[in-house]
Amino acid sequence: MKTVAFYTLGCKLNYSETSTIGRLFQERGFQKVEFTDTPDIYVINTCSVTDNADKKCRKIVKEALKHSPNAFITIVGCYAQLKPKEISEIPGVDAVLGAAEKFQLVDILDGFEKKEKPQVHASAISEANTFHNSYSFGDRTRTFLKVQDGCDYSCTFCTIPLARGNSRSDTIANVVRSAHEIAESGVKEIVLTGVNTGDFGLQEGKRVETFYELVQELDNVTPINRFRISSIEPNLLSNEIIEFVAKSQRFMPHFHVPLQSGSNKILKLMRRRYLRELYADRVASIKSHMPHCCIGVDVIVGFPGETEEDFLETYNFLNALDVSYLHVFPYSERENTMAPGMAGKVSIKDRNRRADMLRILSEKKKRYFYEQNIGREFTVLFEDDVKDGQMEGWTENYVRVVAKYDPVLVNETKHVRLTAVNAEGLMEAEETYVEVLKH
Ligand code: SF4
Repeated sequence: MKTVAFYTLGCKLNYSETSTIGRLFQERGFQKVEFTDTPDIYVINTCSVTDNADKKCRKIVKEALKHSPNAFITIVGCYAQLKPKEISEIPGVDAVLGAAEKFQLVDILDGFEKKEKPQVHASAISEANTFHNSYSFGDRTRTFLKVQDGCDYSCTFCTIPLARGNSRSDTIANVVRSAHEIAESGVKEIVLTGVNTGDFGLQEGKRVETFYELVQELDNVTPINRFRISSIEPNLLSNEIIEFVAKSQRFMPHFHVPLQSGSNKILKLMRRRYLRELYADRVASIKSHMPHCCIGVDVIVGFPGETEEDFLETYNFLNALDVSYLHVFPYSERENTMAPGMAGKVSIKDRNRRADMLRILSEKKKRYFYEQNIGREFTVLFEDDVKDGQMEGWTENYVRVVAKYDPVLVNETKHVRLTAVNAEGLMEAEETYVEVLKH
């Protein structure tokens, strides 16, 4: 029996797809082993958003060959789609597969025999027009379920549409079926993932279903205790979705909404599909329905043309906004996108300084959000990692709670009252048996 090991770079979507490729191997009689277990085959799932994608890919190939010098090395993922030739030239790589081919990997590389030259199977991205259902098992507690792929937007900094193709989705019936399958394995929480998740419902370029319809149907999958929406564009986060989440007992009061900039000038240069006023309105709407809802924000600093004043506009906007944490990215040039050709390049030093300022703001926001929740009651879904005799889990509204390790609690929800934020920034809690209200 041949053995195969995997390595994933990048986002939740990549993790869910690696898991699915792993299951395809297992269905064909391969055995899945750890990276260090001298496998016969390695599959490395790459990311194009990661900085130094090339360097990271080379490093992992090198590591793989250290553990298994004769292994067959296959590279898939966004970076493989964007740069198949360069990747095939990395010493030790045997095959490169693009977005349209990665789920046919076992058939295409039949036998996994090494050839004189690396094999490259990467068609044009327009060929990647089918949807492949995927979900991951990170731990026994939560699963990332891919419901949508690709993106029809054209943000000027983003390479994802080139690596993943047009927006396309699973059907609601299939997603519901997958959710039941996941529930049977004992998982309690599903995170809905996609490239542009809120754009769910397009098939062959036509809108046949909507994200709102999807969440309504999933709410009836009673064996799953919790659903989270991984990320949703502000222009697609409608009031009906917000109101639905507020009423639902299964959809958690937690949204992650990319902002990217708090300056309308920069938002226009980025070709985002909203202005800061719409973003502020979405946050206000969420908070009016769910005052303790967690709101996470993606933000890019140092985009071409961003002056110090523009950056301060973003800083002040975020400072005043009732959001809970920020994911901050210093702008990084991507080939074949419009932004690198724009005027007003920001120095790397300024990009990093601005990123640091926002990261400090994020810490303050998070601490404030945690403190607002002290004294309130929630349920916590505990995970099975033990660290120094302690275990951790998330509340409904994404507060990280720490407790003394108790094996009985693993993958169980427990009612607690939040008591204090400890020195590590984690929430401490006391047990409570009072009926817990969601918001
Ligand atoms: S919405 Fe913009 S940033 Fe997000 S994947 Fe699409 S093009 Fe990229």
